[in-house]
Amino acid sequence: LTPATDPAIETDAVVIGAGPIGLFQAFQLGLLEVAVHIVDALPAAGGQCVELYPDKPIYDIPGVPVVSGRELAERLLVQIRPFHFQLHLGQQIAALETRPDGRFALQTSRGQRFVARAIFIAAGVGAFQPRTLKVPGIERYAGTQLLHRAPPNAQLAGRHVAVFGDDDTALCEALDLAHAAASERPASVTLVHRRDAFTAAADTVARMRETCAAGRMAFVAAQPVAIEEVDGRVVALQLACADGSDRKLQVDIVLALLGLSPKLGPVADWGLAMARRQVVVDTERFETSVEGIHAVGDINTYPGKRKLIVCGFHEATMAAYAAAARLQPDRPLLQQYTTTSPRLQRLLGVGKD
Ligand SMILES: Cc1cc2nc3c(=O)[nH]c(=O)nc-3n(C[C@H](O)[C@H](O)[C@H](O)COP(=O)(O)OP(=O)(O)OC[C@H]3O[C@@H](n4cnc5c(N)ncnc54)[C@H](O)[C@@H]3O)c2cc1C
Repeated sequence: LTPATDPAIETDAVVIGAGPIGLFQAFQLGLLEVAVHIVDALPAAGGQCVELYPDKPIYDIPGVPVVSGRELAERLLVQIRPFHFQLHLGQQIAALETRPDGRFALQTSRGQRFVARAIFIAAGVGAFQPRTLKVPGIERYAGTQLLHRAPPNAQLAGRHVAVFGDDDTALCEALDLAHAAASERPASVTLVHRRDAFTAAADTVARMRETCAAGRMAFVAAQPVAIEEVDGRVVALQLACADGSDRKLQVDIVLALLGLSPKLGPVADWGLAMARRQVVVDTERFETSVEGIHAVGDINTYPGKRKLIVCGFHEATMAAYAAAARLQPDRPLLQQYTTTSPRLQRLLGVGKD
């Protein structure tokens, strides 16, 4: 945990997770005039829809016969735009505590602190973290010679680069480097995957094979088994090849593009009642065992739970009303329709002045 540096942001509510349900949670809170900050560990909003199936169609969003994962996230972001919410990306909520005054103190992995009156955990299956290589000692080089996101090509110019992975992300990155402008081209580009079969699209695989045949990059079917270090730097990887042979690969940079895996992470440490790694909630307020902390979407559990986006949207709506009643006890919580309510339309920026 990075030491806290910034002053704490004081707000009505913090939504933990910018997946589809966290985004819709912010929409419902916006309609109820509850100020929101949304935090997500990933560099982009959209949760599983964007990380796991951006281009696949979803057919069961009411009134939307078909929408891709990415498009759904984009539309949800457009829908919450009127509310001037703040989105804090690339930082995980690492700590959550109840303060003596009944508010909640949160801190992100980057040291940003929040003090909020209500919390909405929309953490899905947890924070996605990059899968890494299982080679003894390589973790010491994370962020220097072991990278999980491709840096700008210029940073790899003249270096020996090994790209690990078998999907479109990995193959396209290797191809991009192999075809980089001369001033940005690495000294060598080697794609490594344990076998000569890929999950990448057929035309991407065909382009990779052509580029290898043209001598601009290489492919090795192998698993890394050890690193070779000189003066505190990795200089080579020992590979156990699929054909049974051993091989040494000279490297300066190891790009592990092996996808993301969800880690429940800190949510399990916040003292909330849990069942099978899910946060237990009631079905009226979608509140956890701690008053003021709600949990919505894939992270929660209750009798009959279905991990569907449409169910999460309902949960977020109910949780927003419950929280608003607690946060604004003197204000009657009238049921209003966006179709007919001038107040809601003004909030949405569509009303006549
Ligand atoms: C291949 C596939 C296809 C699917 N198709 C459908 C479908 O057709 N219809 C349907 O209804 N559902 C479908 N689903 C399920 C649907 O995607 C999930 O129900 C939905 O994404 C849950 O949304 P969520 O916002 O609860 O969680 P997620 O989408 O998992 O988002 C949670 C977010 O919280 C963040 N997070 C977690 N912990 C922290 C933390 N401590 N700090 C900061 N951020 C954190 C994560 O980084 C993530 O971005 C599909 C799922 C998959 C994998």
